[in-house]
Amino acid sequence: MATVPITPPMTQSTIERSTLDRELTERLDRYARIDTQADERSTTSPSTKKQYDLLRMLVDELSAIGAEDVRLTDYGAVLATVPPTSSGDIPTVALLAHVDTAPAFSGTGVNPIVHRNYAGDDIILPDDPTVVLSPKQFPYLGAKIGDDIITASGTTLLGADDKAGVAIIMTLARHLLEHRELPHGRIRIGFTPDEEIGRGVHANLPADLDADVAYTLDGAELGEIVYETFSADKADVHVQGVSIHPGQAKDKLVNALHLAAMIVDTLPQVTLTPETTDGRQGFVHVYQMSGSPAAAGLQVILRDFELDGLRAHGELLQQVCATIQATEPRARITCSITQQYRNMRYWLEHDMRPIELARDACRRVSINPASTPTRGGTDGSRLTELGLPTPNLFTGMQNIHGPHEWVSVQDMSRATEMCVELLRLWATSAQDAGRRRPASERQAQSAVDWVG
Ligand SMILES: [Zn+2]
Repeated sequence: MATVPITPPMTQSTIERSTLDRELTERLDRYARIDTQADERSTTSPSTKKQYDLLRMLVDELSAIGAEDVRLTDYGAVLATVPPTSSGDIPTVALLAHVDTAPAFSGTGVNPIVHRNYAGDDIILPDDPTVVLSPKQFPYLGAKIGDDIITASGTTLLGADDKAGVAIIMTLARHLLEHRELPHGRIRIGFTPDEEIGRGVHANLPADLDADVAYTLDGAELGEIVYETFSADKADVHVQGVSIHPGQAKDKLVNALHLAAMIVDTLPQVTLTPETTDGRQGFVHVYQMSGSPAAAGLQVILRDFELDGLRAHGELLQQVCATIQATEPRARITCSITQQYRNMRYWLEHDMRPIELARDACRRVSINPASTPTRGGTDGSRLTELGLPTPNLFTGMQNIHGPHEWVSVQDMSRATEMCVELLRLWATSAQDAGRRRPASERQAQSAVDWVG
């Protein structure tokens, strides 16, 4: 039976903030310089070979700091173990971050700049002086006076999404391996590729992680703990027209492009679009249109926090397709909807301990926890659905996927401290409440019926 003393919250005496800050700065700088942009058009896994440049570096660094079971899987995930310092039935906690960066903006030649002791003025990025980070435009920046702010140089994204998460987990692992007096159970580490293109969770990942609970370090503001994401479906609309030489087309041509345009035009435009909704509202988003008079396609994503809403969005799209079909019987319009991911709340609300402990850990290091639903998905959505409860924790990253991206070193530092505390809480709370649940029980939870 383990006896883990209830120790006071970690303070500066147990963790040197300046040492953490330096290490986090160095790590983020090193990782951000490596181009790891994902490519949605690729069919390989990982989608781009260059992600291996960072994955292999992490294998080497994990081995160097003394992590155990370090390996690179054939689907491009780096896995490792930090062995426990406490004994007993302590749940295994996995910490995850993704190495890829978004295809939305250039990730080549990233040149991170550290703005030390930020004074609160506009930050003008040197490689494109039209890119200005103003605290007026970005109020969160205004709250970071005195922090060290890391930005890109103006022509690329920074890639703090999610290399801030990678840097935090690496720094945390190094710290824990050096300070064996800090109580924690078995910790699993996972660095994954291709999160940005929705392919971060390989079917083997949950089994390979072999953990009871996981957290992604892929969130934003200090204190953010996300356990609600969108539920997501994708729709493929196909319009088959009748193609014929335009010179002989009278009464014969059925132009698929016109019909596709009519579908787009008939869909709601002043409501139910991403640009007209926020908070807990869902949307129908046409994001790609392609084709010829002979055949055209529309790619549509459907999003809602609730399954009823998601279903209604799908029915609306199908109704619109049927209406346009009725105007032109010679065309053939089909709309097929496939499931993408589900709101992790449907599973987590059955056992809120992963969130409650994260909130408690925040408070113990004087951070106000906050949970706002994410208008998107995370790798955690899929992992949770597969039976591994995986809420998302803050890293500090801001304005992601573009040249205005930035992160406060001190936010990353606080995230690292919070994780030390969180792992301690898992070790100590296991004494009274938790027992490592058998695999059969975990499977049962993964089968929770979310329909209805
Ligand atoms: Zn991310």
